[in-house]
Amino acid sequence: MAIASCDSEPVQTPGCVQAHGALLVLRLSDLRIVQASENAAAVLGQSAEQLFEQSICTVIGVEGQSRLRSLLDQEAVFCNPVYLMTLPSTHTGTGDAVLDVAVHTIDGVAVLEFEATSHTVEPKPDYYALVKTTLAKLQSASSLQQFCDVVTNDVRGLTGLDRVMVYKFHNDGHGEVLAESRRDDIPSWLGLHYPAEDIPKPARAIFTKTWIRPVSDVSGALAELVPLANPDTCAPLNMTHCVLRGVSIMYTEYLRNMGVTAALTLAIRRDDKLWGLIACHHYDGPRHIPYHIRAACEFLAQVVSLQQQATEEKEHLAYRLKMEGVHQVLLAAAARDGGLAGLINGTPSLLNGIDAGGAALYYLERWWCIGNTPTDDELNGLGNWLSAVMLPACPRPLYVTAKLAQAYAPAAGFAKVGSGLIAVPVSANRKDLILWFRPETIQTVNWGGNPYDKPTVPGANGPRLTPRRSFERFAESVLQQSLPWRLVEIDAAASLRFMLAEWVAGQTGRRTVLHADLARSNADLDAFVYVASHDLKEPLRGIYRYAHQLLEDVVSIDDESRRKLDGLVRLTVRMDGLLDSMLHFSRVGGTDLLLEQVDLNEILAEALDFLGSRTIDKEHAVAVPRPLPTVLCDRIRCRQIFVNLLSNGLKYSDTANQRLEVGYIAPNDSHPRPHCPQKILGQAIFYVADNGIGIQAKHHQQIFKLFKRLHGHDSYGGGSGAGLTIVRKLVEQHGGQVWVDSSAGQGSTFYFTLPSKASPIQ
Ligand code: ADP
Repeated sequence: MAIASCDSEPVQTPGCVQAHGALLVLRLSDLRIVQASENAAAVLGQSAEQLFEQSICTVIGVEGQSRLRSLLDQEAVFCNPVYLMTLPSTHTGTGDAVLDVAVHTIDGVAVLEFEATSHTVEPKPDYYALVKTTLAKLQSASSLQQFCDVVTNDVRGLTGLDRVMVYKFHNDGHGEVLAESRRDDIPSWLGLHYPAEDIPKPARAIFTKTWIRPVSDVSGALAELVPLANPDTCAPLNMTHCVLRGVSIMYTEYLRNMGVTAALTLAIRRDDKLWGLIACHHYDGPRHIPYHIRAACEFLAQVVSLQQQATEEKEHLAYRLKMEGVHQVLLAAAARDGGLAGLINGTPSLLNGIDAGGAALYYLERWWCIGNTPTDDELNGLGNWLSAVMLPACPRPLYVTAKLAQAYAPAAGFAKVGSGLIAVPVSANRKDLILWFRPETIQTVNWGGNPYDKPTVPGANGPRLTPRRSFERFAESVLQQSLPWRLVEIDAAASLRFMLAEWVAGQTGRRTVLHADLARSNADLDAFVYVASHDLKEPLRGIYRYAHQLLEDVVSIDDESRRKLDGLVRLTVRMDGLLDSMLHFSRVGGTDLLLEQVDLNEILAEALDFLGSRTIDKEHAVAVPRPLPTVLCDRIRCRQIFVNLLSNGLKYSDTANQRLEVGYIAPNDSHPRPHCPQKILGQAIFYVADNGIGIQAKHHQQIFKLFKRLHGHDSYGGGSGAGLTIVRKLVEQHGGQVWVDSSAGQGSTFYFTLPSKASPIQ
């Protein structure tokens, strides 16, 4: 028989009672007995056959009968067992047994249940007195854990049972022992998890209707109803509300396999759904919990149901506030730092908010991780899948799962750390992501050193129902699954995403504005430089002319004055050169780029041609290891880049055997990519290398500044110090970067990129 078959057991209509008590079914219209449990003779002194069609007064006396009538008339006894009376032994003639009698009605019959009790006299005990102190303690409990601890302690105090547990059902149906009070000498089961099937569906269903389920003697006999069906209706008795209801064999076997000899189970409900159970076990033989103690426990279970919701909500609120608090700090840090890395690197980090095993952030083209997360490669695969497949398919920008491997098969490889996932994008393109990971449930479950590891003696139904097997089945049932995410956690992730996305959008917006401002002020500056240098040239020409005339015209000039006039002429020539450079520089930014597919080999040839007429001769060899690609760029500006870099390469050299090389490194080349100041992905890197005098590392940044020269005006062919500044400006206009790799005496290599929108390499 499969475990699932428990789901079809007739739990509500077993047709038998636990034999320590007796049950009578009365026709409501005349209160005559239509069914009796077959043990009626032993408990009530009259056999079922004798009792059939007798008036109930033959069992409970005239006074009992009139009390029954008034109860049936006045109290809400429908599906609600109510104490009727205590029946002295003189009534039944069955020795010393004093019986508690409870009654409820269902389907047109009254059901009377007779059970032995410890007390002998009426009036009925005061249940409230029994639970008063417990109620006070429950009220002051601030967490669900404290609350459950009070419940387990006090129910155990009331019942004297060996172990009392609060057992909570998770969203996926599996159970966990949240709190426990036990005899000192028995091992703890606190924190253990059980598969959903351990409590079959009908048993759960019954607990949404009734509050209590006592089993006084797990090995006790059962007594059938006689007749089995109601002779008036031919229907079996609905025993949902009978405390004596016969116990299913599967259940008693399960209990016996755990060594349990008596049990009491109480329902904890929330919004009419079963939230959990108060499960009590006894290991020391049969244990009958009398009616008034059970009533007190039942009352407690109802209070727990009401209060538990409030306590859990309080706890949820505290958790939500904690998460929100952490997320606020993270946002403030992001605003302060101008970036998101602090979400992972800072204190607090993402792991201090939502309860997760690890968190990962994709930002600035890389992963930032904290806690237990998949590897970078695994994250890359997952990130691609999320951005390209999963997130676009989600109704809102958030993906949550407790079974990632079911949706994304490669996740089976990292199920241990990432069976559960909350993913939110933090940028419009869904590439930048925040991921929270939760480990596989089995990794978080307390199973160490537990009593179930001991072999158990299987019962008639085989080893299937042993606790050990329970755990194995539980382990199977939660394979590659994490504990479910709570609604408050999903909400917290969604609101963090919302706030971060707003912030990122704000940043991008601000950057666009700044960029526009900067572009405008650059253009203004260029215009100013152009006008200034153009206008300055006029008076400069005048100074030059006058100085020159003075030198030629004035005959009687002393040597000192002549030297000074020579200096003046030289300075005006130099200043004229500087103004030319400034004019040139200002024009570089003047017009928009004219992007076209340009064969760089042609550009190089043009540049060499341009230089060749003046500087290139036989000694200057320019090597091109492989043909250059065709790229999208501005032809004129690109030629200028090559001209400036090549002319520097030619100029700054002491060797007679000059060598230059022009080439590129493609993104997929096996050739190791050179160090570059910023990350460059998927772009070709171009270079112009020489074997010249080289540049000390401390000057690598300086040389790109306007008019910055490392040598005297006249050494190495002179220059204004604007050449590299112009190169940088031209490269940046193409969205690229330029940098140098060099050291003194070792030659120099200037690298640059041209990532104009279209793909750079064909
Ligand atoms: P310049 O007109 O002086 O050449 P640049 O802006 O082109 O101005 O270069 C700035 C300075 O960087 C130069 O003065 C020189 O000192 C140094 N430099 C540029 N290119 C090279 C090179 N290939 N090898 C060595 N030094 C160089």
